Amino acid sequence: MPKNEAFWNPYRLIGPTEEVRRYEPQTHEKYQGFGGKIQGIARAITPIFVGGRDGNTFRTKVADTKVDAIPATSFKGMLRNLVEVVGKGCNVVAGDGVKNACKSDKQLCMACAMFGMAQRDENSKNVVFPGKVFFQDLVLRQKSGKTPSRGTLTIRPGAPQPKHEAFYSDRRRRKFYFHQPNIWTNAPFKEDSKLNRKIKYLPAGVEFDFALTFYNLTLEELGVLLYCLELEKGIEVKVECPDQSLKGKKTELTLSGDLHHKIGGARPYGLGSLALEFEAKREDFYRCQDRYRDFKTSGSITEEEWDRIRQEKEKYHLGGEYDSQLLKQLRAMLLYAEEDPRKFQYPDLDWFLKNKEVGLKEFLSSIRRLNREKST
Ligand SMILES: [Zn+2]
Repeated sequence: MPKNEAFWNPYRLIGPTEEVRRYEPQTHEKYQGFGGKIQGIARAITPIFVGGRDGNTFRTKVADTKVDAIPATSFKGMLRNLVEVVGKGCNVVAGDGVKNACKSDKQLCMACAMFGMAQRDENSKNVVFPGKVFFQDLVLRQKSGKTPSRGTLTIRPGAPQPKHEAFYSDRRRRKFYFHQPNIWTNAPFKEDSKLNRKIKYLPAGVEFDFALTFYNLTLEELGVLLYCLELEKGIEVKVECPDQSLKGKKTELTLSGDLHHKIGGARPYGLGSLALEFEAKREDFYRCQDRYRDFKTSGSITEEEWDRIRQEKEKYHLGGEYDSQLLKQLRAMLLYAEEDPRKFQYPDLDWFLKNKEVGLKEFLSSIRRLNREKST
């Protein structure tokens, strides 16, 4: 993925991100907007690893059951990251990047309004806004009571590379890792380093139950939440793919598939691709006002409201009202193409020393939808 190389860096920075959009959030004291629940199965489509306390084995559900689980906080963090991009939210983990976290609970971005925030304002006063979306740990579904056997992978934590400005030209960017459907252990590094760690991952195919509930969401917030959970199906991306064997002639690579999530550790090594399988159902959604008035009525929303919610979500689809260059880049990163032939690896230290000015290859020439997704 560095220019002129056949291999691809495991991550890309997408952006620049747009101006943060803030508004006065719906508060918690009054029931308003929409509530509901969404549940389904999260299936690992590559091996998956979410570190536990010792960092090297899969996170185990605390205390009694000892069943593996993806912690709710990891799932929430993954989703928040997407909502920040799709809903033009602030960046709370900017590190040395742009510091643009929300500081007033009267003016919040969509990510803070939905997932909550805790910051200090200009006068160093603590500002806290509790979230309105709630997550449970994603517990492993055990087939006939058995824990699937784990694989072992040697990794080096962190991106093994020095500061390379040519990769980070604009700070208003966000880091995403490519899915690596086929060659997921290919990122090389020196075997003998003391920094290496052995991790124990769960194999591809394992399934987890996931569930989240929410209340007091606006139509706009619900549209973004649904989009970030469902993503999109049937997307085709073309990328320029310089092939060394063609002596510099550019070739084009066509990748197609569905968009999927990526979670946990060892993502540069190809782990953590996650397919969420669920169907949002109208009867699981309700108007919060109705719930407050009478707990006996289900308060289910009408067909018209349901249509409005689905339409709001689809505005973020490719070619939709809210589509943007940034969302096109995001799709190129979330695309899980079964036939992806790209080889992913970090450049080594020698490469960085010799190629100080060299940046990354373009990763998106064109994008289109393969077949219209049926709206439900
Ligand atoms: Zn915010």
